[in-house]
Amino acid sequence: MFEELTNQFEDAVKAFKGEAKISEENVDEALKQVRRALLDADVSLSVVKEFIDEVRVKAVGTEVVRGIDPGQKFIQVVHEELVNVMGGENDPLANSEEQPTVILMAGLQGAGKTTATAKLGLLLKEKNKKPLLVAADTYRPAAIDQLVTLGKQIDVEVFNLSSNLKPEEIAKKGLEKAKNEGFDTVLVDTAGRLQIDTDMMGEMVRIKEAVQPDEVLLVVDSMIGQEAADITRSFHEKVGITGAVLTKLDGDSRGGAALSIRKISGKPIKFIGTGEKVEALQPFYPERMASRILGMGDVLTLVEKAQKEVEIADAEIMQKKLQEATFDFSDFVKQMRMIKRMGSLGGLLKMIPGMNKIDDGMIKSGEDQLKKIEAMIGSMSVEERNKPELLAAQPSRRRRVASGSGHKPADVDKVLADFQRMRGLMKQMSTGGGLPGMDGGLP
Ligand code: GDP
Repeated sequence: MFEELTNQFEDAVKAFKGEAKISEENVDEALKQVRRALLDADVSLSVVKEFIDEVRVKAVGTEVVRGIDPGQKFIQVVHEELVNVMGGENDPLANSEEQPTVILMAGLQGAGKTTATAKLGLLLKEKNKKPLLVAADTYRPAAIDQLVTLGKQIDVEVFNLSSNLKPEEIAKKGLEKAKNEGFDTVLVDTAGRLQIDTDMMGEMVRIKEAVQPDEVLLVVDSMIGQEAADITRSFHEKVGITGAVLTKLDGDSRGGAALSIRKISGKPIKFIGTGEKVEALQPFYPERMASRILGMGDVLTLVEKAQKEVEIADAEIMQKKLQEATFDFSDFVKQMRMIKRMGSLGGLLKMIPGMNKIDDGMIKSGEDQLKKIEAMIGSMSVEERNKPELLAAQPSRRRRVASGSGHKPADVDKVLADFQRMRGLMKQMSTGGGLPGMDGGLP
């Protein structure tokens, strides 16, 4: 799966081959790859659509700065936008001024709710807090035993009443105990169902009213795929959540649920579960999740690799063109862009051994000359760029280029003559004729 995704992003980068900027016209192909990657990561379809529209707007308006290629920039925009959408930074657990802080755990059966309750208990204990775990899952009696066992394991007290009390009554009594006995946090484990169910929602609402929690954390299994969207929507609409815990990220899920949860509820993912053990809980970091959703540890390294492949292929084509003397002004512009990506012309020249003392004035005049040529090429038609001989043959074309670029016709004549001379030289060198003047021969 990883390899397939890698290819998708390489394709996204290559979609910009030869383009100078991200535009409405060239962004579609790359967006298609992102769409596929997000769907593969199980982000829900409606969220994918919304995200793609946002990225399109951001990407098309983006300035592509010197040294960065549009393909590279595009992936950067996607990555940054994913991080932004997921909240940018880690969001800590609520900490109420009025003790105790009450945290209600919600979610479907099997999501990892009971486990997450114990994991949070341990985390708080390690921060020198005094949590109380409340077993309010009366629907599945085994869940109470499970929490009691986990509580013993982490040495955190569990409040449970094995009577026939309603879950909201158990929760309320748990809260009273916490207040009386100086617990600073109450974690209430509630009953899930296998699917979204009105009984469950009613129960959640009643518990919420009874204990007025500071947090309602929705626990979602990351392996559940596209369904995460509906689960989030239901819980958020009916109960109202303040955040989420995404579990089972030690499996091979790519974590697309994180994006769906955040987009649909607007609430942050606060923790991730990364194993069955009670220690396996980590704060959620949007940056890391963005890389995971995109399916790569380091997006940019990969993009750079794709970029290099494109450049190598370009260089080979360029070499062939030089040898066959078909190198034209369009190729010249491409080469200039490649040089610019590597830095300023002066910086580049200074890296060449023996050139480090090169005069800044010389560099400046070289750069001015290149700017002049670029302006002239900008005033040429595509046909003229691809066939410089058209300009050589027709003075009226040369005059038009001169006035369009703000230079004298004589300047254009000179640039054209130099260019053609260069083409001739290249051809001669590549066919083994040597440099003119060295063996006495002229082209
Ligand atoms: P609940 O019904 O929502 O309370 O779910 P449980 O806490 O009972 O968890 C259901 C199953 O998922 C159990 O077998 C847990 O050990 C397992 N589980 C929970 N969290 C994780 C996790 O982060 N990673 C893995 N691999 N398994 C988990």
